[in-house]
Amino acid sequence: MSPSCARTALIALLAVGFVGASVPEADAKSKKSKSAKVEKSKKSKKSKKSAKAPAKKANMPNGWTWPPSRAMRQAGSQCLDDLTAMGVKWERGKRTKKIATPVVVPDMEFGGVKVKSWWRKGPHVIDCHLALALAHFAPQLHALGVREIKFSSLYRYDHVTSHGVKRKTLSRHALGLAMDVRSFTDAAGNEAIVVEDYNDGNELLLRIEQFFNESGGFRTVLTPRNDPASHDDHFHIEVKVDYAVEAKKPNT
Ligand SMILES: [Zn+2]
Repeated sequence: MSPSCARTALIALLAVGFVGASVPEADAKSKKSKSAKVEKSKKSKKSKKSAKAPAKKANMPNGWTWPPSRAMRQAGSQCLDDLTAMGVKWERGKRTKKIATPVVVPDMEFGGVKVKSWWRKGPHVIDCHLALALAHFAPQLHALGVREIKFSSLYRYDHVTSHGVKRKTLSRHALGLAMDVRSFTDAAGNEAIVVEDYNDGNELLLRIEQFFNESGGFRTVLTPRNDPASHDDHFHIEVKVDYAVEAKKPNT
């Protein structure tokens, strides 16, 4: 694929592909109850159309299935091409339960922004779509002053915890699409730590939260403000993916 082609594909992915999965973990419960009602009414009508349509799994991206459908595998393959076109050095990650397109980015550096573990060395297996989103938005994070992101968790096979309650729905961490961030460090070496600095109105943290929420590429960031019971010490950041939309994209 040519770089311009890759760019077009990426723009399409970001403009269209990520749309439609904008409900954060904290809203999963209310979304679930709403969708349950919708499913119920669909079932009662017993229309042919609803019988054919795959049921949307709670808190899973639109079009997501396990094992990955052909469309998801194609979207993953396109993502890997786009990652290469963006100049990211990646390797295939080991097969990991519920990660559709596992990758490892050995240097974990995206456009001058280093992504590091708070706890341990890698390799850190994530889904290609998270790596691609980090690569795409890194220049804007860099422009905000961010030089280092320290995460406490990327992939982990776990269920959603919000407002202090463990839910039945699978977390996007289990899909390799989310990261929990403890701190961001700026160009001067100042480390803004969520648990210590967010509630004091740290400007870097507030600007980063606003950036992710307005970027269009991520679901609403969970923070000490909107979920103090479960997110008092980290930002939960997760990329939006819509596999149903990606399946309809023309080949480039
Ligand atoms: Zn999280």
